[in-house]
Amino acid sequence: MRMWMVNPQLMCRRHLLGEHVEIHMLVGTLLRKKSVAGFVENDLIEVHSIRARHAELVREMDRRGMNHKSPLPKFRSRKLGKVNPRTNLIELGRRCKACKAMQRRSS
Ligand SMILES: [Zn+2]
Ligand SMILES: [Zn+2]
Repeated sequence: MRMWMVNPQLMCRRHLLGEHVEIHMLVGTLLRKKSVAGFVENDLIEVHSIRARHAELVREMDRRGMNHKSPLPKFRSRKLGKVNPRTNLIELGRRCKACKAMQRRSS
C-alpha cells in the first residue's frame, strides 16, 4: 500500500485508481488493527492524511468522469508516517510512461 501524495492531476488513470484502492485497503487494515509499521518505516503512508487524500483523489476521479461509489469508513486517525511528494513525483515519472507524459504536459 502506498500513498503517493502527488498532485492527482499529474497521475495516470492506473495510478490514480490504484492509490484510491490502496487507501481503502489501508483503512481496512487499520480497522482490523493490523500493523502498518512496515509502510510507515518505508515512508509509504501518512495516516493523518488519509481522509483529505481520499477526498482529493475522488475530486480528480470525478473530474475525469470516473464513478466513485465507495465512501471511506470511519476510522481513528492519528499522526503517523511521512511521505515525500517531491521524490514520489520523480519516482512515478521514472516508473510509468503515462504519468511521465502527464508531468510533461503540465510543465
Ligand atoms: Zn473511495
Ligand atoms: Zn502512472
